[in-house]
Amino acid sequence: MKKESLGWVRPELCSMSGYSVLESPEGTIKLDAMENPFGLPEDVRSRLAREVSSLSFNRYPDPQARELKEVVSGVLGVPTPRLFFGNGSDEVLLNLFLATSGAIVSPEPTFSMYRIIAKSVGRPFRGFSLLSDLSLDMKALERVLQEEEPGILVLATPNNPTGTAYSMEQIAQAATLASQAGFTTLLDEAYYPFHGESVLDGLSDLENLLVLRTFSKMGLAGLRLGFLSAPEEIVGILDKIRLPYNMDALTQKAAVFLLKEVLPLLEDQVREIRVLRDELQEKMSRISGVSPVPSRANFILFRVFGKSPEALFQFILGKGILVRDVSSHHPLLSGTLRVTVGTREENMIFLNALKEGMRS
Ligand code: PMP
Repeated sequence: MKKESLGWVRPELCSMSGYSVLESPEGTIKLDAMENPFGLPEDVRSRLAREVSSLSFNRYPDPQARELKEVVSGVLGVPTPRLFFGNGSDEVLLNLFLATSGAIVSPEPTFSMYRIIAKSVGRPFRGFSLLSDLSLDMKALERVLQEEEPGILVLATPNNPTGTAYSMEQIAQAATLASQAGFTTLLDEAYYPFHGESVLDGLSDLENLLVLRTFSKMGLAGLRLGFLSAPEEIVGILDKIRLPYNMDALTQKAAVFLLKEVLPLLEDQVREIRVLRDELQEKMSRISGVSPVPSRANFILFRVFGKSPEALFQFILGKGILVRDVSSHHPLLSGTLRVTVGTREENMIFLNALKEGMRS
């Protein structure tokens, strides 16, 4: 396309990189995207099919997703007026950043969509580095908060791609600094199910605290259902800017059914994934030249020594397993790859490929 025909496009978007998802050949073991490896049993799937077949596809869905809100409110103990839904937590972030007048500030390395969404909606993004032990650099945070127009401080805990979680004290300290500088703090608790500690239990009385969650990681990534717990006034503002029917009828129906019927099953799967994670981590740490970062999530970041991460990634892919090479994403990630916890069998296949790859 001729350069002149792009004259109407915001110039910064031409050079911006988007979110990259690698295509994997049929049959590849997918350990790249923090998905639950188990899936739903056959009887649940057929009951779900019956549920959704009763929908009136000629009608718009409930714009307020009221039934879903009631169910999620019951599951979480968050009152319905404090809940805001999105097509995945990505869409909640989009709406939040659209509502923000100032900068999006976040310690890095972290989930790349914070930067991508901020840039997409024309808000400044200001990253600052974590310390080398992957904890928060409070001095750097304080400086950045002073330098930027008040917006949102985003903390992912557990963090992607490090798998590490911030302590409640660190979170409280960071949120207090943010609040003093006129920022609000968003805790992205996407990996909460695998960690078990939430500010919703501990620090919910701190004003200005927003909590983002998703049903993706515990086993419903295909549904695209993320939500925010926020003060009612904030939900009211976000409701003005979200698209009217952002929660489609299929998602609403399926999520209500699944949350009523299979939550205990998903919780069992999460417990199993935590056990598998700890086993995998332990086995990885016994491989010479491999150093896994202790994880509180459903994935493990690991550093390799004496081996190029790109070459190792390709070797593992050659064995039919897709992991994620994050080594070029941030200086603190140099020499690292990230693997999502799979079934016991998938983890074994991965471990064998990793062992062989490190020797080759
Ligand atoms: N937050 C974090 C920290 C993530 O890692 C991800 C997914 N990779 C998301 C949010 C987005 O999740 P979803 O849109 O599926 O809810």
